[in-house]
Amino acid sequence: MYTGLLNQDPSPSDKIDLISENYVEPENQPSLKLYAEVVVNIPLNKVFHYSIPSHLREFLTTGMRVKIPFGNKVTTGFCVGFTSTPFTDKTKDIIGVIDKIPLADDLMLKITRWLSSHYCCGWGEAIAAVIPPVVRSRIKERWNTFAKWSGDTPALSQEALLQMKTRAPKQAKVLEILLEHPAEISAKELIRISGCKMPGLRQLEKKGFILLENKLPDAADMPRSIDLLQQHLPLTQEQQNAFDSVCKRLIQPKPGVILLHGITGSGKTELYLQTITKALEQGRKAIYLVPEISLTPQTIQRIKARFNRVAVLHSNLLGTFHQSQWNDIKEGRVDIVIGARSSIFAPLKNVGLIIIDEEHENTYKQENNPRYNARDIAILRATHENALVIMGTATPSLESYYQALNGNYELVVLSKRIGERQLPPVDIVDMGEEVRKRRGYNIISQRLEYYMNQSLARNEQVILFLNRRGFAPYIHCKRCGFVLKCHRCDIPMTFHKKFNTTLCHYCHAEARPPESCPDCLASHINYRGFGTEKIEDEIKNKFPKYQIIRMDSDSMRVRDAHEKALAAFEQGTFQILLGTQMIAKGLDFPNVTLVGVISADTMLNLPDFRASERTFQLISQVAGRTGRGTKGGRVVVQSFNPRHYSITYAAAHDYEGFARKELEYRKQLNYPPFGKLARVVFRSPKEDKAKEKSSAICDKLKEFAKANGDRMEILGPSPAPVIKINDQFRWHILLKAQNHSSIHTALHSVSDMLKPSKTVQTMVDVDPYMML
Ligand code: ADP
Ligand code: ZN
Repeated sequence: MYTGLLNQDPSPSDKIDLISENYVEPENQPSLKLYAEVVVNIPLNKVFHYSIPSHLREFLTTGMRVKIPFGNKVTTGFCVGFTSTPFTDKTKDIIGVIDKIPLADDLMLKITRWLSSHYCCGWGEAIAAVIPPVVRSRIKERWNTFAKWSGDTPALSQEALLQMKTRAPKQAKVLEILLEHPAEISAKELIRISGCKMPGLRQLEKKGFILLENKLPDAADMPRSIDLLQQHLPLTQEQQNAFDSVCKRLIQPKPGVILLHGITGSGKTELYLQTITKALEQGRKAIYLVPEISLTPQTIQRIKARFNRVAVLHSNLLGTFHQSQWNDIKEGRVDIVIGARSSIFAPLKNVGLIIIDEEHENTYKQENNPRYNARDIAILRATHENALVIMGTATPSLESYYQALNGNYELVVLSKRIGERQLPPVDIVDMGEEVRKRRGYNIISQRLEYYMNQSLARNEQVILFLNRRGFAPYIHCKRCGFVLKCHRCDIPMTFHKKFNTTLCHYCHAEARPPESCPDCLASHINYRGFGTEKIEDEIKNKFPKYQIIRMDSDSMRVRDAHEKALAAFEQGTFQILLGTQMIAKGLDFPNVTLVGVISADTMLNLPDFRASERTFQLISQVAGRTGRGTKGGRVVVQSFNPRHYSITYAAAHDYEGFARKELEYRKQLNYPPFGKLARVVFRSPKEDKAKEKSSAICDKLKEFAKANGDRMEILGPSPAPVIKINDQFRWHILLKAQNHSSIHTALHSVSDMLKPSKTVQTMVDVDPYMML
């Protein structure tokens, strides 16, 4: 019943570089394991055969790591299968087996094999990418170990304690400390106070007095009793109807995909939570994907308030904690995994439900090998596990919406906000007219200023949004027009006032601001444009009575800064919150009655076929941050393109209208969701090398497309929109075809030429998001 991704069955015909002609599916494993099929973490899609010494045959299963001779080195590989007919009769022996239990199960092997074929990377690379490095390495850290009594009440008589005091005084001290602090205590603390070392603690564990557990100190998450968990809310009629549709699918043998199109504040999250309960009741487990963990503290709090046995997978988890969490998930001690895109690979068994919150977000796409999109992997995984996928959003990606229009996904709609709240009215301010009227440019328009004054005077709060950090994005000379650029990238440097420095937002290079023009030596240096830092200054001048907090990656560098800032805003310490896309998502503050979009044009002008879609999404999402309480709300959008359809449809809260128009354009130009894309980027320190290689491959591809006569377009070669990053010149080719298999065969036809050389690196991106 699916088209699109699911047509791309992970079959070998999809391969750019065939895995191995005589690859046997794991089900048909020969009973005698003579030779192992091994893949290595290199950008080459090839399976190697090794003979298995008889003493290892019993232990080795697929998904385990093995030590192998490779070239003239010893390296680590993953065993992906067995065969009795090797490619060559001169196979080498496996040296050893590293794992006792497999790191990847059959499902993960299937998924990673699909990843390697669809995204044109090595199978070994794909496996390495889905298993966190900390699981692969063996780290010994005791700082995250916690100790507590083994039973509910310490089963320890005074007599026993006295006895121990003479035989093992330090261990006795540990028990005394625990008597005083019956809650768990970190092993580090215990060791410090008692002087008893880790082996002593282990002995106490062996004797049955204490339990030792690995945990993150500040996340020590004890299961709560059922009555401490928050209850689900009674659903509204609209939610109930949606919930009924969801439940009907959940119990089907092949549940498929639901696209939940619900406006901001319509109660999607509540629906996810209640669906999780249903899945758990069926004895299944759930994966809950969010665009970015650190940006969604409110959602995570809501999930944790309702459920026990929840694991949150942060990318910045400390080593041992991550490892123990991975084991908890693998060994069935966890029911719900929440995390960003890589959590789709969590080793959870028996997954019955996968939720993708804000499915349109581009953070679901990974921007290095394997360049997967978690949304697509979710569907693949769910198909193998017969799980239901719910993709929820107020602004569906056109890819997903198109699948729903075609009936491949079921569309479920929530069109009303909870509590009869209205979506806020949106005022578009024509900044061109504003300039004419006020004879000059003012960052804050009169209308925005007026509404800010109104909200602030009523003790309400304001959110201001600008997708650009720093003070000024251009430093130029008024006399000769010189623009200060990064010496490594073809990108203007941004002035950061607080540190009196200029920064490249691509390679992070830093330079002192020039005092005179480096080109003509005139002292007419001018700072043009504006970023969040400048707005902050401007607001402080204009609204001196109010407190403003700025949230962008400059001001929110330390861990937890984000959560603290949001908490302070929620408590009313600040009246104005100013930020970049960091604040566009998921925030729910009832006292916010005004949202100002300082410039809707920052994205609109990017050379990217998704520019309109991104602009529409951003305005809609930001607008969704207001009018969530009883006081109503309003949005002011400032733009020099006030009649652009992304902006007018967003202002009218008309997703369908926008989608209809945008789909028309995409169809004319055969862009996704109609045509499929791949991008090949060539990077070299020498521009002519990158150009030469891209031309050679482009010629080949064009020949191939012509010979095959299908409607394949090869665009390029051309310099990438940002031609130089980090001293690497970049040229690119775009492939546009009717389906993925045309793209794969075309890329396959040049796979030999795509291998990296000394001077030119190539990067293949199937279903790309980054076009710069
Ligand atoms: P969305 O995820 O669509 O933005 P939420 O699930 O966050 O919407 O709901 C918006 C607000 O409405 C939240 O504060 C939530 O607690 C509340 N809410 C959701 N469903 C209900 C309900 N059935 N009854 C009362 N309040 C609800
Ligand atoms: Zn740079």
